[in-house]
Amino acid sequence: MQSQQRYPKVFSFEFFPPKTPEGAEKLRHTRRQLAQLKPAFFSVTYGAGGTTRERTLETVLEIQRDGHPAAPHLSCIGSTREHLAEVLKQYQAHGIRHLVALRGDLPSGTYGGGAFRYANELVEFIREQTGDHFYIEVAAYPEVHPQSRSMQENIQHFKRKVEAGANAAITQYFYNPDAYFSFVEECEAVGLDLPIVPGVMPIANFSQLSRFSEACGAEIPRWIRMKMQGYGDDTASIKAFGLDVVTQLCDRLLSAGAPGLHFYTMNSAGLTSVIWDRLHLSER
Ligand code: FAD
Repeated sequence: MQSQQRYPKVFSFEFFPPKTPEGAEKLRHTRRQLAQLKPAFFSVTYGAGGTTRERTLETVLEIQRDGHPAAPHLSCIGSTREHLAEVLKQYQAHGIRHLVALRGDLPSGTYGGGAFRYANELVEFIREQTGDHFYIEVAAYPEVHPQSRSMQENIQHFKRKVEAGANAAITQYFYNPDAYFSFVEECEAVGLDLPIVPGVMPIANFSQLSRFSEACGAEIPRWIRMKMQGYGDDTASIKAFGLDVVTQLCDRLLSAGAPGLHFYTMNSAGLTSVIWDRLHLSER
């Protein structure tokens, strides 16, 4: 963890672009609440194949208009070079300088097509098209991406993205801090030196989280799963226990030198704000 302790701590919040006017209004409310915590930036996800292109941009521009730094995500799967070059131009024209570059996932059974197969190719393309204009973040997987056959392959593919020009990384969420510590050490061992910020998923709906975790390769430790299952429909206990688990996780990560936290807010401020307060992050 030595390399990580040298970086300033960066705290950020992730949103997805709302689909309806009601969703947009709810997000405005969430953003106003979270803006009071003064995060380094808000990021906004991007649907694979460009499906949310306009909504991602609109959401980012609204955040910027309110005076906050915003970073759009950009995924490459299923997109042509021309399409991606256009999006990059649009981002540049709006003064955006911070990106989260990803491969993305197409729904199963869909043919991807498109120019790029992996995120390292997208990072290379962004550098080729726009030089050093963007600060580029990429994704990292402390518990191994579901399509990687081994931790070694997982690290080697992560390394390709860094060598292609990524400045920093945000991890998939996890609930076992040792997975993160071990991943960071493996990265250090192969000479990678960049901030690797833990992604944090507060626990709102446990059954939904379980299904999603299986698909994205995030492990919910058995003791957490058993305890959650034991609560049945008692949502108050699920929420209280989830808050304890995630606050303790964040506390351990920060104490060990993690260079900040990136919260997957799911467009709600509640749980993220409580965890933030319990960690006394406003006093940092
Ligand atoms: P890659 O780094 O390309 O890795 C994908 C898989 O391919 C891995 O198993 C990797 O080991 C393997 N691989 C990589 N390079 C090679 C190679 N050269 N040869 C062979 N195998 C290789 N998805 C969205 O659609 N929109 C979003 O906005 C979004 N935001 C995200 C934000 C964060 C912080 C994270 C962690 C994930 C996000 N995702 C998003 C999900 C992400 O798109 C998926 O996890 C996807 O499966 C992998 O994306 P990646 O950029 O990590 O891909």
